[in-house]
Amino acid sequence: DVADLPGVPEWLPDHLRDDGIEELYPPQAEAVEAGVTEGENLVASIPTASGKTLIAELAMLSSVARGGTALYIVPLRALASEKQADFEEFEQYGLDIGVSTGNYESEGGWLADKDIVVATSEKVDSLVRNDAPWIEDLTCVVTDEVHLVDDGERGPTLEVTLAKLRRLNPDLQTVALSATIGNAEALATWLDAGLVDSDWRPIDLQKGVHYGQALHLEDGSQQRLSVQNNEKQTAAIVRDTLEDDGSTLVFVNSRRNAEAAAGRLANTVRPHLTDEERAQLADIAEEIRDVSDTETSDDLADAVADGAAFHHAGLSRGHRELVEDAFRDRLVKVVCATPTLAAGVNTPSRRVVVRDWRRYDGSAGGMAPLSVLEVHQMMGRAGRPGLDPYGEAVLIASSHDEVDELFERYVWADPEPVRSKLAAEPALRTHILATVASGFARSREGLLEFLEQTLYASQTDEGGQLERVVDDVLTYLQRNDFLEIEGGELDATSLGHTVSRLYLDPMSAAEIVDGLRDWERGASDSTSASGAPSETPPEPPADSGFTTASELAEDADESADADRDPDDISALGLYHLVSRTPDMYQLYLRSGDREEYEMELFEREDELLGPTPSEFEEGRFEDWLSALKTARLLEDWATEVDEATITERYGVGPGDIRGKVETAQWLLGAAESLASEVDLDAARAISEARIRVEHGVREELVDLAGVRGVGRKRARRLFQAGITDRAQLRDADKAVVLAALRGRRKTAENVLESAGHRDPSMEGVEPAPDVSVDLD
Ligand code: ADP
Repeated sequence: DVADLPGVPEWLPDHLRDDGIEELYPPQAEAVEAGVTEGENLVASIPTASGKTLIAELAMLSSVARGGTALYIVPLRALASEKQADFEEFEQYGLDIGVSTGNYESEGGWLADKDIVVATSEKVDSLVRNDAPWIEDLTCVVTDEVHLVDDGERGPTLEVTLAKLRRLNPDLQTVALSATIGNAEALATWLDAGLVDSDWRPIDLQKGVHYGQALHLEDGSQQRLSVQNNEKQTAAIVRDTLEDDGSTLVFVNSRRNAEAAAGRLANTVRPHLTDEERAQLADIAEEIRDVSDTETSDDLADAVADGAAFHHAGLSRGHRELVEDAFRDRLVKVVCATPTLAAGVNTPSRRVVVRDWRRYDGSAGGMAPLSVLEVHQMMGRAGRPGLDPYGEAVLIASSHDEVDELFERYVWADPEPVRSKLAAEPALRTHILATVASGFARSREGLLEFLEQTLYASQTDEGGQLERVVDDVLTYLQRNDFLEIEGGELDATSLGHTVSRLYLDPMSAAEIVDGLRDWERGASDSTSASGAPSETPPEPPADSGFTTASELAEDADESADADRDPDDISALGLYHLVSRTPDMYQLYLRSGDREEYEMELFEREDELLGPTPSEFEEGRFEDWLSALKTARLLEDWATEVDEATITERYGVGPGDIRGKVETAQWLLGAAESLASEVDLDAARAISEARIRVEHGVREELVDLAGVRGVGRKRARRLFQAGITDRAQLRDADKAVVLAALRGRRKTAENVLESAGHRDPSMEGVEPAPDVSVDLD
């Protein structure tokens, strides 16, 4: 009974009852018995939707009740806001909730006043690197989805971050929540934690495979589920569920497939909608169109009007929330989703269909089957407690043999064990530098001893592999001037400290510094050639292949205005520079792209920083072109090309544009710091490129677009109406502003107010007729 919980704040039992929680679920009760409300470490490995959040809350609230501070680590930024909203319910009892996902390098001092903080592991890692004092006051850390330590890319950060937090405060309560995995006890050993390992679920789950005209269930029974002429299996299942008044969540393997499937399934759902549902859906569709003006937005709105939707990480947050709410309100009857958010977003549904059990995997060079763990997590979303008698999760077989294969592979299979991915060079490059720079290790031995506290060390008997990679990485860091090694002592250089604090992959930092140096060598050479002519023509940089000695000599003869001034670095050159670092996800080259970007390269090679790799270096050349494609997207954004054109031209969603823009902003900010760290005089060009990409505008609009509430489109409209900067906006004629903002009074008032206008009120003002500009 929730009245009998030890250690929790006294308001909690009533609060839980108000939420319909009278008794703990069995795994939650086990967690309390294991001391989760009394500061004990705990690993809880339990199925999706079985109440892990409450275990986390019990741990954090009891820790806060003892005067402490708790941290909740989420695996994805997109999930932070969802958890924040969950925890903000506690603000009515005087708790302060903070969320920290933004800029990597900020110090997070404001977090010191919070009781519970939600952050990604990257953000926490960054706060540790920046010595945020608040970190040492933590008393409880909860890690959601801890099985993701198995993820090659992000797992190592989580692993190292937990090791650091636990070293900083040996009494820190560590609670790790995981989906059901094969080796939960290994995680418990690593974290010195008690273990709750359960497959209890609040609602029964029947797994099965559909083939032909039947649904084969794991208990051996069969249900007739017939597929009509020209109908796909998924459509048949959705229709069957609708006839029973239920909703379906369909998992597919790509965004494109999610959009296509939603479009098709809309036809299945449409005949089942009531007039009232249709009217409500039409309103939601309008809200979706209002979020952004793109093809994705239109497609989503069209599907939603018919009671279907898609959901993937390319959607903007506004879109995702509208879809999730409409699905929970049972207006949208089917959602086609990629697995990205399957784990975190709480959108239970009567039936789950796992349509695609293979997905494209670059490292496998083709389609590869999903892991049992992933498929079980998707399946776990079936069944809404209190609403459905049970949940059904269905895989789709395309042949009789595949029915057996899918039963073996997923229905009857146990999830894989989780294994550390730390002993890989890219992961260690970043983490070793940070570990040394923030003083967790000062020698090679100290470093190895620190790494002993990771999951990796607890999972391997063979120390040799880790030592070998560590030595390779130390050599790399020393060669690039990030670390000094003297007689076994390790010391980060000033550059190394900067890189660690900026949260850059050292390889990104090296790429940026080399690119800028390369440009400057050109610059100083040509400056000296034009300014004070030297006796002999300058030597070209040995490794560049960019300019030959004779070309430089020609420059010296004929060009008075040198073309390698750092102020002349083009925005495209800088966007390309940051796009080719490992910290940017580059756009893929689709078929036909290669020719296009080779042409582009041919035309604009002069603007790029550093030598173009030879076409014979297949991999590097390909990367160079992908970076150019990514840079062109950023350039389009920063020259006010509209969103719809960009999404079309590059085959991306609006959320992807946001993602690239934010990464570019961060990397250009880092490039500014690096440039000053190594005395390169390029700060002005970099900062301009950064601000332009941030606001998505040409240079002349930078000032206006920085005014709160203005943005790229409105800035252009104001500019065309003759208001060219913030100062002019402050003193502008209100009628002109109103006309430029297409008669939207509220917007105009807000904009004038943020520009500091004496009297922003629009009462009685009529828009000036002759200056209205319609850019659409
Ligand atoms: P998980 O994080 O394990 O996927 P959640 O914590 O989101 O699952 O829980 C799923 C749902 O179960 C939530 O809506 C939550 O309010 C509800 N729930 C959790 N614990 C209980 C309980 N003891 N009694 C009734 N409902 C509960």
